[in-house]
Amino acid sequence: MKIISAGITDVGRRRSRNEDAFLVNDEMRLFVVADGMGGHVGGSLASTLAVTLVESEVERMLREDPGDTDPVDHVRQGLAKAIASAGKQIHGKALDNPEWKGMGTTVVVLLVVDRNAFIAHVGDSRVYLVRDKTIRQMTDDHSLVAESVRDGLLTEEQAKTHSLRNVITRALGFNPEVEVDVQVHSLAKSDRYLLCSDGLSGKLDDHEMLDILDANPLMVAPRELVELACARGGEDNITVVLARVDDVA
Ligand code: CA
Repeated sequence: MKIISAGITDVGRRRSRNEDAFLVNDEMRLFVVADGMGGHVGGSLASTLAVTLVESEVERMLREDPGDTDPVDHVRQGLAKAIASAGKQIHGKALDNPEWKGMGTTVVVLLVVDRNAFIAHVGDSRVYLVRDKTIRQMTDDHSLVAESVRDGLLTEEQAKTHSLRNVITRALGFNPEVEVDVQVHSLAKSDRYLLCSDGLSGKLDDHEMLDILDANPLMVAPRELVELACARGGEDNITVVLARVDDVA
């Protein structure tokens, strides 16, 4: 198994602070993007905590003996628990200091174990999979507009410009408990996984992302994606992590 990855975060063109954070841990095959929000310093603290806590919780989970549990179920459940535990700790931290009150963060995680990709998320940061020349959004946004689209109350087009499009319905830190979505997929050679914050997905559609991913080397593509999001206004922080499966043996 060989995975090559690249990650980048950018403050964008309008904001003074970058409240996104990311992790690229090739050794653990763990990739994370978090998009924080809240207060003066709360947003960047929440996203940074999410990344570091998810890393330490997942590391601990991978060392555990699965016992009689099916190994795939062990990781699936363990990943959900690791992220929920990170959320609980962020919530606890938010109570420690008035400046951190109300802080929260999205999180999206790709963890590769054996030949499986485990994708977990909370909030509206996304994972896309590029396979066989097509790109597919793998995560359902936990946001007001995405839920309204799924319920048939808004069209995709209406959602794109809706005034409440930034309202998310799940986050780490807002509450002590959080529901984490986890899915498992078999890896295929040449799969490319793109993790991003809404600073990217709000500015480029899927096909524009695919064009840039296909036109550039892996190490260059994240920067090119960020450049285009910035050229279109860059109102939000932009984070991109790209991981490619070069060998599944
Ligand atoms: Ca954002």
